[in-house]
Amino acid sequence: MNPPSIIFHIDMDSFFSSVEVRENPALRGRPVIVGSDPKGGEGRGVVSTCSYEAREYGIHSAMPISKAYRLCPDAVFLPVNMQLYHQVSKNIMEILKSCVSAFQQVSVDEAYMDVTGIVSDYEKAEKLARKIKNHIKSAEGITCSIGIAPNKIVAKIASDYEKPNGLTVVRPDSLCDFLYPLDVSKIPGVGTKTRMTLENMGIKTIGDIGKCDIQLLIAKFGKSGIRLKQIANGTYSSELLRHRLVKSISKEVTFEEDVADINVVKKTLAMLSEQVHARLLRKGFVFKTVNLKVRFSDFTTYTRSVTLSAYSNDKMSIYRTALRMFSKFEGMGIFRLVGIGVSNLVKMDERQKRLDDFFDAEQFKGMANCSFPAHKE
Ligand SMILES: [Mg+2]
Repeated sequence: MNPPSIIFHIDMDSFFSSVEVRENPALRGRPVIVGSDPKGGEGRGVVSTCSYEAREYGIHSAMPISKAYRLCPDAVFLPVNMQLYHQVSKNIMEILKSCVSAFQQVSVDEAYMDVTGIVSDYEKAEKLARKIKNHIKSAEGITCSIGIAPNKIVAKIASDYEKPNGLTVVRPDSLCDFLYPLDVSKIPGVGTKTRMTLENMGIKTIGDIGKCDIQLLIAKFGKSGIRLKQIANGTYSSELLRHRLVKSISKEVTFEEDVADINVVKKTLAMLSEQVHARLLRKGFVFKTVNLKVRFSDFTTYTRSVTLSAYSNDKMSIYRTALRMFSKFEGMGIFRLVGIGVSNLVKMDERQKRLDDFFDAEQFKGMANCSFPAHKE
């Protein structure tokens, strides 16, 4: 069985207004409202973001700017400076991207990261999250909240849990403890309409959904009812969309005829290492994990991975690591296919330096040469 996933959801705190306060520290502690011109209460636009001080007046995003003006005429009203926010966003996303290969930006101030291969457990994940928070604070001068959980949706609920400047960890064994007491509206996508329908069914908390008869939920919501129940029990997981990044580079060969000769296989592995390495250099990445795939003549297939103690772009370390993994399969049968891949990729540029700042050596203690159990495909 694979170890449980470790997913981060990172969300900047009142992003636009935080950036404005950073630009003009005199605004700190004051209600700051970023949005359209209030025109002395006659403005027709809406609030884009507001500081936590403004929220105390009951002001929130998407509220008519005229209403915000009535609630707090003394607030600092600022126009939206999208160019500036995009620049800050870009800087922050670069910081996040540099430490993982699986990364998904979902808006200007929000992203998911899969750190499953980067840290070995939730305790280390929490330490990593603190470092990321500190790094963003010192580099960009603003705070964020991070939720850590085994899947995206719980990570998102968790990042919202202790805002601002929050860090909430939901371990795989405490999913229901965390989710069950929460109001159903905490589930992303559950709006007023769904909330009302649920309330009419006597359902108020996420726990009520978790314990509700699945047939009742299906009768009301169709397929979404199944998803709702899975979310409530913490078992719904969706893939990170990683199209922005190369996740791994691999090459494999199916032999014309099945091969028993170990030397032939080893030569093939050397050739594959060469090809993978060439592509790695072309794309400008360094790797940390080497993967081997072996298929026998009866189609049983194994994959193995070894994570190195440091990032590398060395051809020989791809080949040697693959060979070492391959030695375990010698004599086990006749080979139909072999493949080599590298993963855990990061760009080979100044990000490497940032990366070293992030992950102190301690974080990786015990991770060097760890081998995951082979699993059949
Ligand atoms: Mg935000």
